[in-house]
Order: sequence, then structure tokens, then C-alpha cells
Amino acid sequence: MKTILAPLLLSLAMTATVFAGWPINDECPVDHKASRPIYRVKTDDGAVSFCCADCMQKFAKSPGSYPVKKKEGAK
Ligand SMILES: [Zn+2]
Repeated sequence: MKTILAPLLLSLAMTATVFAGWPINDECPVDHKASRPIYRVKTDDGAVSFCCADCMQKFAKSPGSYPVKKKEGAK
């Protein structure tokens, strides 16, 4: 039983990680430049990406000031 479940649970965990980490936007909400997935913050809506670390910090201080424009196809 264990030998069947282990690989299944592992692949489920990896799938969840990928979806949780994928940014919901492709435009920086702070200055509207193209965002890069390496700069991202987790929010209730999902991961939000930014163009640079400065924008990421600005957003982290007051998330309400910067509405996130979700990319097409995102939930
Ligand atoms: Zn920015």
C-alpha cells in the first residue's frame, strides 16, 4: 500500500507547488512595467509578480494601494 501511495502523494504535492507559485499577473501593479516571476509575493488571490524588488517592497507595505491587474486566463 505504501509503495503505491508515496509516488502519488509526491506528484500531487509538486503540482500544488507549481500552481501556488505561478503569478496571476504579468504587469507590475506598482509602476505597470512588465513583471518578472522571480519577484513575487503571495496574496489571497495567488502569487503577484513585480518588475523589481523595490516594487515588491512597496506592495508588501500597502497591498491595498496597488490593484493587481490579472492576466487573461487567470482565475
Ligand atoms: Zn514595478
